[in-house]
Amino acid sequence: MDYLIVGAGFAGAVCARELAEAGNGVLVIDRREHVGGNAYDRRDANGVLIHEYGPHIFHTNSERVWCYLSRFTSWRPYEHRVRAVVEGRQYPIPINRTTINQLYGLDLDEAGVAAYLAKVREPRDTIRTSEDVVLSSVGRDLCEKFFRGYTRKQWALDLSQLSAGVAARIPTRSNDDDRYFTDTFQAMPAEGYTAMFDRMLGHPNIEVRLGVDFAGVGERIGRDATVYTGPIDGYFGYRHGRLPYRSLRFEHEHLSGVQRYQEVGTVNYPNDHAYTRITEFRHLTGQVCAGTSIVREVPCAGGDPYYPVPNPDNERQFRLYERLAAQQRNVYFIGRLAQYRYYNMDQVVAAALALTAKLLREEPVPVG
Ligand code: FAD
Ligand code: UDP
Repeated sequence: MDYLIVGAGFAGAVCARELAEAGNGVLVIDRREHVGGNAYDRRDANGVLIHEYGPHIFHTNSERVWCYLSRFTSWRPYEHRVRAVVEGRQYPIPINRTTINQLYGLDLDEAGVAAYLAKVREPRDTIRTSEDVVLSSVGRDLCEKFFRGYTRKQWALDLSQLSAGVAARIPTRSNDDDRYFTDTFQAMPAEGYTAMFDRMLGHPNIEVRLGVDFAGVGERIGRDATVYTGPIDGYFGYRHGRLPYRSLRFEHEHLSGVQRYQEVGTVNYPNDHAYTRITEFRHLTGQVCAGTSIVREVPCAGGDPYYPVPNPDNERQFRLYERLAAQQRNVYFIGRLAQYRYYNMDQVVAAALALTAKLLREEPVPVG
């Protein structure tokens, strides 16, 4: 079989490798000039390894995904920590014991914080929206201070207009754990993501062509089957209207002579500035250089699609595209943009492994 894979991000690269190892010929195209999709990293003009499309921290509970990627990279252990600036002071986010004690001038132990949260939370019978999630876990004051403004900036929507899963990404803790993630495996690829992708795609059965958009050339490339990892509405010529995707503008900056710009990897700004957060890469990569490189993320409407926007209307619209996708012969849709899911990297890897396992079990019928 000969496969065309559209997109050289996690979805495309994992599918390519799996299909190639099973003896298939694979052509990977990407409209960008590099592999890695949104996880692409590179050295900036000052030699600092930066993430072009915003900070990417690898974390997973899946041993399978961890072992799979470990074939293509060694790792640097890294546990991400984030602070949020509220009224000029920095507090741990996810909200934990320290956050509550420092914010309200209290000295509660773990049980005290749990009791405090039980007192302020506004329980809901059903949890439908992100507002339900936040109000029912931390109550109104913490919601307004840490969540409402950040969410409005990030999505141009109110918490009440987003599905529960968005805010549910951020837990609430009554202990002192200030890690952003608690997954079993948390690490950064030792030489970066792009090096890992180069190894994954470095197989004699894989050809990679960069700077090639599927639109226009797709038909002409002609393969037995296609794996498509771009935005699904684009594939179908926006027949059911444009699916909302949220975009970001990344403002990269190098500060020469500065050893450390901020205490932790990322600082969130829920209520001030146009940007949502600032990330300093040296925390993530462990690089030691003369200066330091940071990135600010400014959410915006146009531009490249980075986030599906999870809410019931958009999910309904996506179902229309999903129905069209199911009718396609030998075309498979996988990944964050094609499945319109707020996937982390590990979830995309797991989805791609599941798809290729299925394809290799039930080989698609060659066309023509
Ligand atoms: P993508 O990486 O988007 O790859 C799709 C590729 O397809 C792109 O390279 C695109 O150029 C190409 N393409 C699209 N259309 C076409 C076309 N018509 N023709 C040719 N090529 C096309 N996940 C984590 O686990 N941890 C994190 O810390 C984390 N941080 C993130 C921060 C930001 C700012 C963003 C935006 C995402 C973050 N993610 C994080 C999520 C992570 O980026 C995704 O889960 C993952 O990269 C998705 O992989 P993918 O292959 O589905 O899509
Ligand atoms: N969020 C928030 N305040 C924060 C951090 C997150 O309100 O300080 C909300 C916001 O809606 C955000 C969502 O939680 O979009 C998910 O946050 P996460 O850090 O997982 O976003 P990502 O890294 O995917 O951009």
